[in-house]
Amino acid sequence: MPVKIYHDDDADVDIVRSKTVAFIGYGNQGRAQALNLRDSEVNNIIIGNIDDDYAKQAQEDGFTPVSIEEAVRQGDILMLLIPDEDQQTVWNEKIRNNIKPNTTLVVASGYNVAFNLLDLPDDMDVVMVAPRMIGAGVRDRYVQNIPYPCFVSVEKDVSGTALATCLSIACAIGATRGNGAVSSSCREEAGIDLFAEQALWPEIMAIFREGYNVLHEAGFSDEAILFDMYLSKEPAEIFERAADEGFVKQLKYHSRTSQYGQLSTMNRHDGKDIREKFRRVLNDNILSGNFAKKWSNTKWAAEELTKEWKEVENAPIVQADQRVREVLKPDRKK
Ligand code: NDP
Repeated sequence: MPVKIYHDDDADVDIVRSKTVAFIGYGNQGRAQALNLRDSEVNNIIIGNIDDDYAKQAQEDGFTPVSIEEAVRQGDILMLLIPDEDQQTVWNEKIRNNIKPNTTLVVASGYNVAFNLLDLPDDMDVVMVAPRMIGAGVRDRYVQNIPYPCFVSVEKDVSGTALATCLSIACAIGATRGNGAVSSSCREEAGIDLFAEQALWPEIMAIFREGYNVLHEAGFSDEAILFDMYLSKEPAEIFERAADEGFVKQLKYHSRTSQYGQLSTMNRHDGKDIREKFRRVLNDNILSGNFAKKWSNTKWAAEELTKEWKEVENAPIVQADQRVREVLKPDRKK
């Protein structure tokens, strides 16, 4: 069954205009969404941030930043827009004890809600408005009146009006324009995001690593291998065309030899082993909450990430990449 899509017509922006909206964080998403709301004539906006460069930016943009605690004390709607890995700690230390009765929490990613990392008051509504776009894109597209993709969901509806509030915010930040905002859930958003990070992309990176290893072993030059594999940016173009024209239809831009090679090999690939591995990652590590529980231990998380970076530095493809890059200086995106 197709999912529900919400458009501008489904939303009443006056709902958010009648509330005090507190931003916890004024970074990529915080700044973009606050500016979009203000341009949609939402006048009661409070920015919560410590006194640093982000607060300075808020001041330059015409807001008067206050502490996170103070912003929370005033907000009817709390926009939780700090990095996912910091949300639980900040929630416990600065937010939880200052929340007014009957407020609405808005998250831009499903992670902390999906894995129950926030101790939510009983009377709080919880919704997700999650742009599939970096903050600068959310702002630029709003200004240029261009639609952008966004997921929305209601996670906890105590008031009976959570969906209306959710759509009001989504509309006011420009997310229900054009093709509309797609109904999802925190579990789905976080699940797919983590799956891409822990199953899909690692597998793709490992395939490139092994591709390099086999071609290098065969005596081909690092320059030729890496240019062909990704320095030419061909994979980026393929994915762009896959998004624009279709995952398989983009093959029409490849030679007939290439089309045959790709289709005949992929069609014979039964995918059984990888499917089983992916299921294990999704069920045992992600949806079980095991990963989120481990990752909440910020000291452990920081140490593990440092270890992984150290280990990858020794991979032959990484060494070759560095050497080829120094010599050939491939174009960088400006
Ligand atoms: P940023 O890294 O840009 O957030 C920076 C803001 O968070 C600053 O205001 C910073 O203030 C504050 N902050 C950071 N650490 C802390 C802390 N420990 N305590 C208090 N405040 C802190 O975040 P994003 O905008 O990238 O992400 C915000 C949310 O939006 C996340 O849930 C993310 O998943 C989601 N999202 C992000 C997208 C993106 O493209 N970036 C896309 C879609 C969703 P200070 O340093 O002063 O403490």
